[in-house]
Amino acid sequence: MEEQIFDIAIIGGGASGLSAAVSAAKSAKVAVIERLPRVGKKILSTGNGRCNLSNADIDKTCYYGDTELIDMTRAFDAKEFFEQMGLVTKTDKSGRIYPYSMTASSVLDALRYTADSLGAKFICDSKVEKIYKSGDIFVIRTADREIKSRAVVLAAGGSAAPSMGTDGSGFALARSLGHSVTKTYPALAPLRTDIKLVKALKGLRVYAAASLIIDGKKTLTRTGEVQFADGALSGICIFDLSLLAAEYVGRCSVSLDLAPDIDDIFSAVSDMAKRRAALPCGELLTGLFHKRIGQQIMRALPDITDSTPISALNNRHISKLCSVIKDMRFPITGLSDYSLAQASLGGVPANEIGAGLSSKKAEGLFLCGEVLNICGFCGGYNLDWAWRSGCTAGFSAAEYVMGI
Ligand SMILES: Cc1cc2nc3c(=O)[nH]c(=O)nc-3n(C[C@H](O)[C@H](O)[C@H](O)COP(=O)(O)OP(=O)(O)OC[C@H]3O[C@@H](n4cnc5c(N)ncnc54)[C@H](O)[C@@H]3O)c2cc1C
Repeated sequence: MEEQIFDIAIIGGGASGLSAAVSAAKSAKVAVIERLPRVGKKILSTGNGRCNLSNADIDKTCYYGDTELIDMTRAFDAKEFFEQMGLVTKTDKSGRIYPYSMTASSVLDALRYTADSLGAKFICDSKVEKIYKSGDIFVIRTADREIKSRAVVLAAGGSAAPSMGTDGSGFALARSLGHSVTKTYPALAPLRTDIKLVKALKGLRVYAAASLIIDGKKTLTRTGEVQFADGALSGICIFDLSLLAAEYVGRCSVSLDLAPDIDDIFSAVSDMAKRRAALPCGELLTGLFHKRIGQQIMRALPDITDSTPISALNNRHISKLCSVIKDMRFPITGLSDYSLAQASLGGVPANEIGAGLSSKKAEGLFLCGEVLNICGFCGGYNLDWAWRSGCTAGFSAAEYVMGI
């Protein structure tokens, strides 16, 4: 029997791999090789099961890392990409784009059905352990088979959320094909802080403006819900800060402005102190914050206890409380591990990538998704990058095999 050689083998059946399959299978014989029993497991967990698939407002400032990689992709519109597959989308007030069904499985189904109807072959339960070139042909080894192809799209993702198939083996495969990989970090994840500072607040959520301070300089501020976890700060604002904090652990802190929409906090707290003069200090801030947060702020006054009458406070005390309300500091002592991260920061650098996301190290190799050194903030930017880069890599690989 004649040995089957695929035009394109796509390593990884996640967001970028399935998009690559949809764009490549229109003109080439494609195999998607996935280590898990089914493709797209991570897609199903995105956006809390609703899949925030893109954003109406995207530019390079929504990304961190080698943002010039975006210039190496083809023109792309995520809404149009999915609408061509019959998936209706909707955009919320903040610009986040979701499937109309608000169900991530609709997105996965659209990709799977389209790739399948174009003839792409899914080879699941097959972890790629080795790829090498024999002449012009790529040989792809899994534990129990060998698959051959004329081109390869490496779409095996990063190291975040290893239970969803991504254990960093994409980086190892890129290295084995001659690429380097920058230092990688868990990103879009809680930030660890001094356990004593959050112990009394554990389980609470506050509305705050969270700023990342690196070497004394404010670098990024995000406003929204912040959660106090076990020895960590969490929530979407913190996830965004984690992208910039990753390389500066030990040199950075998070500052929370707990009353971001009150400009004259001194007047507000002074007024509360007058109205509550007869109450104990432990009750001063309960009109503004959860009791435990108010009490934590009070700890900034060493000469005052929760039972001291509010009438004992002077302007110096109130000023000190206001400075904590506007700048509650948490030194960042560590990152979360990859199991809690939504993305990994770092990957194959842009200077090893050419037009159409082709590899400059191995002819016939194309790379896409999180294996490359680019990572977006929360808001649909990472999935947009996965679809965008996947479509480009799939299209370029198909053009490459047609031109051989
Ligand atoms: C919980 C969670 C929620 C998220 N929510 C959002 C969101 O709402 N919006 C957003 O924009 N981003 C979100 N993200 C991030 C987004 O899902 C990723 O950035 C995106 O999926 C990356 O696409 P990818 O194709 O590069 O990698 P992945 O989607 O991770 O796919 C890689 C695939 O390769 C397979 N694989 C790995 N190694 C091998 C191997 N050696 N052989 C064969 N197969 C292999 C894996 O099993 C996996 O299926 C979320 C991430 C997580 C973890």
